[in-house]
Amino acid sequence: MIDENAMKEFRAGLRGSIIQPGEKDYEESRKVYNAMISRKPKMIVKCADVADVISAVNFARENKMLLSIRGGGHNAGGLGVCDDGLVIDLSMIRYTKVDLHNKTIIVGGGNTWGEVDHAAHAFGMATPSGIISTTGVGGLTLGGGMGYLTRKYGLSIDNLLSVDMVLADGNFVTANATENKDLFWAVRGGGGNFGVVTAFTFQLHEVDEVVGGPMLYELSETEEVLKWYRKFIKYAPDDLYGFFAFLTVPPGDPFPEHLHLKKMCGIVWNYTGPKEKAEEVFKPVRDFKKPALDLVGPLPFPALQSMFDPLYPKGMQWYWRADFVNEIPDEAIEKHKEFAEKLPSMLSTMHLYPINGQAARINDSDTPWNYRDATWSMVIVGVDPDPANAEKITKWTKDYYDALHPYSAGGAYVNFMMDEGEDRVKATYGKNYDRLVQIKNKYDPKNLFCINQNIKPSLETQNEAEAEAEGPVLA
Ligand SMILES: Cc1cc2nc3c(=O)[nH]c(=O)nc-3n(C[C@H](O)[C@H](O)[C@H](O)COP(=O)(O)OP(=O)(O)OC[C@H]3O[C@@H](n4cnc5c(N)ncnc54)[C@H](O)[C@@H]3O)c2cc1C
Repeated sequence: MIDENAMKEFRAGLRGSIIQPGEKDYEESRKVYNAMISRKPKMIVKCADVADVISAVNFARENKMLLSIRGGGHNAGGLGVCDDGLVIDLSMIRYTKVDLHNKTIIVGGGNTWGEVDHAAHAFGMATPSGIISTTGVGGLTLGGGMGYLTRKYGLSIDNLLSVDMVLADGNFVTANATENKDLFWAVRGGGGNFGVVTAFTFQLHEVDEVVGGPMLYELSETEEVLKWYRKFIKYAPDDLYGFFAFLTVPPGDPFPEHLHLKKMCGIVWNYTGPKEKAEEVFKPVRDFKKPALDLVGPLPFPALQSMFDPLYPKGMQWYWRADFVNEIPDEAIEKHKEFAEKLPSMLSTMHLYPINGQAARINDSDTPWNYRDATWSMVIVGVDPDPANAEKITKWTKDYYDALHPYSAGGAYVNFMMDEGEDRVKATYGKNYDRLVQIKNKYDPKNLFCINQNIKPSLETQNEAEAEAEGPVLA
């Protein structure tokens, strides 16, 4: 039970607001991107500023409440919300500030990538992020962050220069290469385990108009395309990025009618080098095989970043499985083909995101991201608007994953995982896991920040005995 006076005081001290069950905006505010997730928090605290975040962290800790942090709300497993606890909703903390002199951008803890792309593009610049612009900067960055600029400029964490954070004890700190270095190491891949990030500073790069878009091939050509692609992308210039996908062609523009609703394979390209060289760079791609549809052309970078947004609005059923992949042997291609032929809905897909190039030049121990030597991050997603199809898309995803997992590198990108248990989190961080635990012990020994791909503090067992005298433990 929460003391009524404490609650009154908490509410009165906020610039933002508290939304509780039964109130007008509660149902809408508890929803996340993945409609398979339906959690009912005790309160959603819409924080307006850092002071509100400090109050909310202190209130949750003092009242022994479960706490979750919501950035863009896109997480596969819905880790931005929790049942019966307090949600720190950062959606009001959204701002961007470009520093032209240093080529950096400061971004609020609750921004989405579309806002960052918009702000930076005005100056002909961008920073690495993901491929859907409605995704939150917070979750994507803290888990790693990969997308169209990964081969050229690395992961989002490789371009993160500084964070402002509220820690479990309510203290506000800055972490970067010179201040709180251990914390800065941990947040570059360790997720929301260490505190609430209220501001991110990223390095910007000159990326203005790019040459990109999809090239689609017949599904019957999968074997030929994948065998070519697996070799090509390993040695392609860093300026060229291309992720492989299985898809069903949407029934509308810009796709020609004869391809509508056809299952196909394809590669979505992004070339960021000098425009006059684009034709030369794409020549081996076009020489390899004429695609059934070639939509690659010049476009502003934010247009590529948001190209798939309309296909994937908030509120659909999503079931995710993922792995890191080093090689794609012939037998794996056979299995890929088998499951592509059985794509269970128009929006279900499998993507192989390359994480080589610049992302692979960073040492495994420089950040918690432990798979710098993997070539791809693979994701299999069953997606459909109709909840009645939830079982069908889930089964396809699980079966597909089970068939391909034996060919994987072991762990998976934390941001593509649903609830897969502690061993999977350990496999993902590998040799960096113990260092993460040490830093968790220092900054969050009682695991206040536990709604995430959780790194359990080893001091927690010790704390449990201590906390028994005080009241219930947090996680
Ligand atoms: C359609 C779609 C496409 C995607 N494409 C890509 C892609 O191309 N590349 C890629 O790398 N990933 C991609 N992702 C995965 C994405 O990175 C994760 O879903 C990520 O968790 C989303 O972040 P969020 O802030 O929107 O999530 P939320 O659900 O709000 O939060 C997710 C987790 O991050 C933590 N968190 C969020 N913000 C903060 C903060 N400010 N401080 C502390 N902790 C915080 C939360 O505690 C929670 O544990 C995609 C996801 C979707 C749904």
